[in-house]
Amino acid sequence: MTVRTMSSAQVGAASVRDGLGRVVETARTIDEGHVADYIPELSHADPDLVGMSLVSVLGHRYDAGDAEARFTIQSISKPFVYALVHARLGREALHRRVGFEPSGEPFNAISLDDAGRPANPMINAGAIMVSALVDGATPASRFDVVLDGLSRFAGRALSVDEAVHASEADTGHRNRALASLMRSTGLLPREVDDATDVYFRQCAVEVTAGDLAVMGATLANDGVNPITGERVTDPESAQDTLSLMGSCGMYDRSGEWGVTVGFPAKSGVGGGIVAVKPGQFGVGTFAPPLDAAGNSARGVAMLRRLSEEYGGHLLAHPSAPASPIADVVEDAGTDAVLLRLRGELDFVAVEQVLHEIDRIEATASGVAVLTVDLTDVTRITGVARQLLGEAVDRTRGSARQILTIGPDR
Ligand code: GLU
Repeated sequence: MTVRTMSSAQVGAASVRDGLGRVVETARTIDEGHVADYIPELSHADPDLVGMSLVSVLGHRYDAGDAEARFTIQSISKPFVYALVHARLGREALHRRVGFEPSGEPFNAISLDDAGRPANPMINAGAIMVSALVDGATPASRFDVVLDGLSRFAGRALSVDEAVHASEADTGHRNRALASLMRSTGLLPREVDDATDVYFRQCAVEVTAGDLAVMGATLANDGVNPITGERVTDPESAQDTLSLMGSCGMYDRSGEWGVTVGFPAKSGVGGGIVAVKPGQFGVGTFAPPLDAAGNSARGVAMLRRLSEEYGGHLLAHPSAPASPIADVVEDAGTDAVLLRLRGELDFVAVEQVLHEIDRIEATASGVAVLTVDLTDVTRITGVARQLLGEAVDRTRGSARQILTIGPDR
């Protein structure tokens, strides 16, 4: 008889992995879409591959199906290169060259505003502009910066699929046309071929669903790769990138995606999708057949189900906020009241605390000292600190004082 033993850590991890496995197996039954062939080399992808990976902001990784299959990143490079350039130039300088608005048009549309500025960085025109803003004197040195940055997002050294790169470089006339238009308005800071060369190479970087999950988790984690611990981009760049993925990441289905899935994502014609639940996890999916909008049909189905099962929609919220008030201890002998708080103090939590302070003061007119004990508070947001501090200041020097106690408050 064989006795199989599992450590408790494996049992725990298996429950997440099995959940993802079920999502992958259901997706395999979906028979929809076609593998992209407008870049000839992409047509060789195996249409039956289906993989998914999830990485939490704590750096734990869960794989299901073909999570190690390799494919080219294509448009999923766009948000990550945007985040890298954003960290160098800042929001305003970057915004002068590429907009924030969803185009509602296909990825390769000629979406330029009156000044010749592309609508957003998630469509080809915007992404060509963004990679032209990478620092470096030559296309080769700029691509080195891009490849190094994408590798730091993934936590491993990535490389280029040369066959896909050659295939796109041979056939990418529309992207050259987009670059020419932007060059003609004076907004594109490089020669057309220099700009498209870097862009075509960045699209041909090879990744797995696991890599995409780590990259997404890095954005979810304010720009710090949760596996390597390296800061890859700054929190504002990560946040702006996620905002644009949320509004423009799924081609001209971005609005529908916002309703049905509800967290930022970016798809690519190679069959990958990266999706991010800020503060929680990144997910990578891979399944080559694309739907009519150019999104991986099985990838969309997997992420829709994940959002339903894992409560992923960012605009879904619990019906009642958790109470930060652990205890109210009234000492009749000394007229003192102790208000003990716990957990995380954000705006709505501190608003409950201030309301409670008013209630105590109104009902116990003899209260001389109200002590707010923050010992068990795990985090105070800026606004909570400010509002509580103002309430304490308001009573300073009066007969009815509020004091706070707790570590380093
Ligand atoms: N390299 C592809 C192109 O520019 C990327 C398109 C995509 O993934 O949306 O056509």
